[in-house]
Amino acid sequence: MLRESIYKRYNPDVKHGHENSPAYWFIFNSDKLLINPEKDIKIPFIEDPKILNISLIRTHYFGKLDGYPCICAEVSPGTDAFDGMIFEDLRGLYDVLDEDLYLLAGRAIQIINWDKNHQYCGKCGTLTEIVEDEMAKICPECGFINYTRISPAVIIAIIKNGKILMAKHSYGLKNRYALVAGFIEAGETLEEGVKREIMEEVGLKVKNIKYFGSQPWPFPNSLMIAFTADYESGEINVDGKEIIDAKWFDVDEVTPMPSKISISSELIEWYTEKYSSE
Ligand SMILES: [Zn+2]
Repeated sequence: MLRESIYKRYNPDVKHGHENSPAYWFIFNSDKLLINPEKDIKIPFIEDPKILNISLIRTHYFGKLDGYPCICAEVSPGTDAFDGMIFEDLRGLYDVLDEDLYLLAGRAIQIINWDKNHQYCGKCGTLTEIVEDEMAKICPECGFINYTRISPAVIIAIIKNGKILMAKHSYGLKNRYALVAGFIEAGETLEEGVKREIMEEVGLKVKNIKYFGSQPWPFPNSLMIAFTADYESGEINVDGKEIIDAKWFDVDEVTPMPSKISISSELIEWYTEKYSSE
């Protein structure tokens, strides 16, 4: 079931006092994280990044894991890895990194990308500055403030007479059926977003919408909010563009997803556990 919060080991923070202690360095080259596959702690756990002999930009302290500072930074594009270290795509590191380090790497890449994408004020074009005591950037000219940006999205397990609805999308893995999901629009509640997405994608009405759990999804900056819902009325009707097909699957037709990386696999696990015993 849903994993425990990393906040048991991790304290978010932005103000970094000077300390002589090793730190966890989350160093990215575009969306790839610097790791050493041979080491127990795969990312650099070092006091001074100078020993890495690379120049770092967009360095942010973002809290402590087990009492040790967590710092994210970016190298200039084209910088090579060295000394047995490699830059690896974050998605592929789910089974490689310690789970908490993986989640913090997801936080780190979002902080870096947010910093990179908000270098200039969106209102007046002035170079922005980092706010000292919160994760924010401010315009020194007009005072406009930007906080780290997330895009909430909903994902839903829709149930009808013990069956679950899965849809085939025109993008991504073409032959795979997946749960209905989509981004929340400005001005709507999560429940309204759930109803709208389901109506848009498969033409159905649902009821008994229940919160299941949530998961930060740093590809590139989503928060996935998972729900369960019961079928209420309507016939499956897909648009043929975004969704190619959708149908109801029996519990014995649903196979567990190969990776536990996403909350989608937890929804499917919830469904198979609940309906296998009936
Ligand atoms: Zn401005």
